[in-house]
Amino acid sequence: MAKAHTETVTDVHHWSDRLFSIRTTRDPTLRFRNGEFAMMGIMVDGKPLLRAYSMASANYEDFLEFYSIKVPDGPLTSRLQHIKVGDTVLVSKKPTGTLLWDHLRQGKHLYLLSTGTGLAPFLSIIKDPEVYENFEKVVLVHGCRYINELTYENLITHKLRNNEFFGEEVREKLIYYPAVTREAFKNYGRINMLIESGKLMQDIGLPPLSVEDDRFMLCGSPAMLKTLSDMLINLGFQETRKSDFKEFVIERAFVEK
Ligand SMILES: Cc1cc2nc3c(=O)[nH]c(=O)nc-3n(C[C@H](O)[C@H](O)[C@H](O)COP(=O)(O)OP(=O)(O)OC[C@H]3O[C@@H](n4cnc5c(N)ncnc54)[C@H](O)[C@@H]3O)c2cc1C
Repeated sequence: MAKAHTETVTDVHHWSDRLFSIRTTRDPTLRFRNGEFAMMGIMVDGKPLLRAYSMASANYEDFLEFYSIKVPDGPLTSRLQHIKVGDTVLVSKKPTGTLLWDHLRQGKHLYLLSTGTGLAPFLSIIKDPEVYENFEKVVLVHGCRYINELTYENLITHKLRNNEFFGEEVREKLIYYPAVTREAFKNYGRINMLIESGKLMQDIGLPPLSVEDDRFMLCGSPAMLKTLSDMLINLGFQETRKSDFKEFVIERAFVEK
């Protein structure tokens, strides 16, 4: 396929019966910015079957990583979930997207608000040294239904903190806030409720939200994006439009059909 590279799967990790991650080789000519997504998929009956996937690996890593849902009757993921090391996937050559830290007005605190596989683009963003250079705090919020869906905890709370190049910045600036809605957990409830009640900011020791200091990236279901962007707009924040950089940017983690 002229518009996609063929990559070889080097690792597959099944987190649960709903979630898995794939690592692949990376064509050295592929360029992307942390937070962007590509079209990824497989050949089915001689034709490419591709879907949008955020890059979960950073743009300087020599592999690609994707974090995926398993939709039982989903055209792609019902097949992709059976992929094995040594199989191949297609990855489009021109990633794109709106979750770019410099598409926000300058601020002090960057809130990365995600639900489910909406975590994926933020996994590349929290590996970006420029993000730590430009914000005083980076708050990664991951909302899920169940505790076993809070994936990548080891990367976020251990591996990155020990990174030889920017571990110090991570230790000083990155705050991880997992939240769960369907079973008892220290941070219980939907992200909008945790923000509106003030619990989130209180728990992490940051001041109440302010248009002057706080910036947001949102990635999740269409319903989550609507709820959170309505909440932010009500609080006086505005969404970036093209080159008119404001206080928040959004990306869909999937499209409801
Ligand atoms: C910009 C963008 C980035 C995306 N990044 C990712 C990503 O990093 N990881 C990922 O798993 N998916 C991602 N998706 C969704 C992805 O493109 C596919 O929809 C997903 O892989 C399922 O494909 P499918 O062919 O099996 O089912 P589809 O026919 O594409 O989807 C069937 C239904 O499954 C549900 N669904 C689809 N994706 C998800 C999901 N991620 N979480 C919960 N429910 C879902 C929806 O109700 C959808 O209508 C992204 C979508 C967009 C628009």
